[in-house]
Amino acid sequence: MKKELFFKRILAIILCALLVFAVFLPAYAAPETPDEEILTVGVPKNRCPIFYSDPETDEPVGIGVDLMRGVAMDAGYLPHFEFIEEETLKDALDNDEYDVLLPFGSAIESTSGQKSIVTENLIQTPFTLVTEGSHEMPPLNELKVGMLHSLSGAADTVHSLYPGIEIKMYETMPECVKALRAGEVDALLHNSYVWSYVLQKPSYADLAVQPSAMFSMDFRAGTTDTEKGREIIERLNGGIAGLSDTHRQAVILDHTSRRLYKYDIFDYLYQYGAMIVLIVLLFVALIVIAMQRFSDFRKEQEEKMQQMLDHDPLTGVLSMSGFRKRVEELIRENPDTLYLLSFVNIKNFKYINDSLGMDEGDALLKFWASKTKETLSDKEAMCRIVADRFAILRRSGGDELLQRDDENVVNSVRNYFIDRGKENRVQICGGVYVLTPEDYKNVDVDHMLDLARVAEKRVRETKSDGYEFYNPEQWEKGKRIANVVNHLHTAISAGDIKVWYQPQVDYQTGKITGAEALCRWNHANLSWIQPSEFIPTLEESGLIYDLDCFVWERVCEDLRRWKEQGVERSVSVNVSRNDIRKDRDIPKQFYDLIQKYHLNASQLRIEITETAFANNPEFLIQTTEKLREYGFQVEMDDFGSGYSSLHMLKEVPMDRIKLDLRFLTDAGDPEKGRIIIGYMIRMIHSLGMSIITEGVETKEQADFLLGEGSAEMQGYYFYRPMPVEDFEKLEDFING
Ligand code: C2E
Ligand code: CA
Ligand code: CA
Repeated sequence: MKKELFFKRILAIILCALLVFAVFLPAYAAPETPDEEILTVGVPKNRCPIFYSDPETDEPVGIGVDLMRGVAMDAGYLPHFEFIEEETLKDALDNDEYDVLLPFGSAIESTSGQKSIVTENLIQTPFTLVTEGSHEMPPLNELKVGMLHSLSGAADTVHSLYPGIEIKMYETMPECVKALRAGEVDALLHNSYVWSYVLQKPSYADLAVQPSAMFSMDFRAGTTDTEKGREIIERLNGGIAGLSDTHRQAVILDHTSRRLYKYDIFDYLYQYGAMIVLIVLLFVALIVIAMQRFSDFRKEQEEKMQQMLDHDPLTGVLSMSGFRKRVEELIRENPDTLYLLSFVNIKNFKYINDSLGMDEGDALLKFWASKTKETLSDKEAMCRIVADRFAILRRSGGDELLQRDDENVVNSVRNYFIDRGKENRVQICGGVYVLTPEDYKNVDVDHMLDLARVAEKRVRETKSDGYEFYNPEQWEKGKRIANVVNHLHTAISAGDIKVWYQPQVDYQTGKITGAEALCRWNHANLSWIQPSEFIPTLEESGLIYDLDCFVWERVCEDLRRWKEQGVERSVSVNVSRNDIRKDRDIPKQFYDLIQKYHLNASQLRIEITETAFANNPEFLIQTTEKLREYGFQVEMDDFGSGYSSLHMLKEVPMDRIKLDLRFLTDAGDPEKGRIIIGYMIRMIHSLGMSIITEGVETKEQADFLLGEGSAEMQGYYFYRPMPVEDFEKLEDFING
């Protein structure tokens, strides 16, 4: 079956091949009749409308072709036109594949020196000059004219007519125009019919035709001067004789009126350039807008997603992930706020759900969440961890606030169902963790929550409800601090806040050179509280200024008393960054103080911590400058604690830098630390400032500093801070 089909196909192919052969064979075999002798005519390319290629067939067409066709056929030829590949007619003459060539003005010699003969004139073609813009032309004999290389025959004719003319040849029309515009030539010369076509190009709108036709050129056919050549010319001349003017006009009209210049992409660009650019810009803008929209949309979606992830859908409060982020943020932003973290849980929630239904359980959770939220400030946060478990970050407000919370929130949750006529009392168990200074340095929400949970578990296992602290000592401490803040003024007036002095020494001479005033709070029940415990809280509440004013005044009183005893001392006082505000004139305040106590400005040294400058450099620099104008010495405290210490040295006008050994040596390679300190000392000295080093605890440290050229020191190695009575008793104090 398959074999049969195969043979049928082969047979069909053979039959087709025979048919094609039968059709085309006669064309090859038929002998040429003598009256249809083929005449190969070579013509130049790209000279629309005289010679150009037909857009459909690519065959040569044009005025020249049509005229020649008539002439050749009249002479009994079958003309066949071909574009010449050679650069010039002179070259083409040497190619004997062409029987005859077009166009000749007159007989010329071929490149290899063969003579040529030409026909009679087919048509008189006008040659015209074109210039950039229309203007007066210099005399023809002095012109520099540009022409196409392929017109070299015509160029010879021009030369013979105008010997003074200078002709420059170019390969293409755009090159000609470029040369004209660049001023290389005064005008371009070409066949008028060609100009009528070329000048339609939009970017040539600035070119102007010089009105007087410069000359007319003959348009003849030519070939080499051979016997065959002469015969062809003779026969063609017969045809030319029969060419009528009407026919000539008709051919010209046909090719000049109907052949409109064909726009190429650059013409469109030239003509519609601005519009195209505008459209492209519009398009790009649309794409950019669309992309922006898309990215906004995505961002919005992401934010919505995040929002969803960060919130609990039931109660609307934060979810655990949102809480974690918020707590980290709050602690970072409020390092001076004392916080508590509670974990709270309903002991009998399962029973409530089972007996009253899930909806009632949900309603209770929502009530609880909204009730708690009402009491939270924007520096506090809460979340539902899961089910009936909540976590709350709250500022420590002492026992009072805890009690208030218990009454307002916890009680109403406890009685939620009772208030609605049902028997069930809600049992709430809570564990509270009080944040320690460590927690502020390294925030670990989950860890803190775990500790609160430990306390909650104790409650759940031992009581029916209520709360417990995980770290009650920390709570007591916090309360103490809160107490100071709440009772600062009473503490000051009761004399519980004291100024202590820590002497500063010159290690080389062993003499006391000054002292730093440091405050101490002596609580009747709780004994001494360190400034580091309550100063941050005072700074946060704005009360630090009251404390500092008290300390400054007390220092001035002491200085005055010592002066009266004949000892003129200098004391450094601390100025909190919160003291320096635009609505306070601290420099004037210090000035008033020394006036009041009849002191010299040099007796007060003002310590401002380095990190203060990072926050509000301009105003602090102004304040520093003013203090120095009054004659006070200004010291940069805690140098090396900030991130931009070196930058500060350049910006801030200081008298003395207080290096803190603890900042510079507490971590890393001690050898490197020593190298850094050595360089710092030298640098600070080179900048014209003096240095005191604090936190000096050992003899080695003191020896090292002295070796590096810095003798002024303060630290436990010499003296600890001491009450004023002790300070006054120091031998050095009396002798100093
Ligand atoms: P500060 O200004 O850097 O004061 C030096 C602190 O280092 C003092 O702590 C001092 O007792 C301690 N210290 C001195 N030598 C050594 C040593 O060799 N080793 C160690 N480990 N510590 C040493 P104090 O008195 O607890 O004060 C802590 C901070 O509280 C002060 O740091 C200062 O910033 C602030 N402060 C203290 N009194 C006042 C005050 O009256 N007003 C203001 N605004 N701040 C104060
Ligand atoms: Ca200080
Ligand atoms: Ca310090």
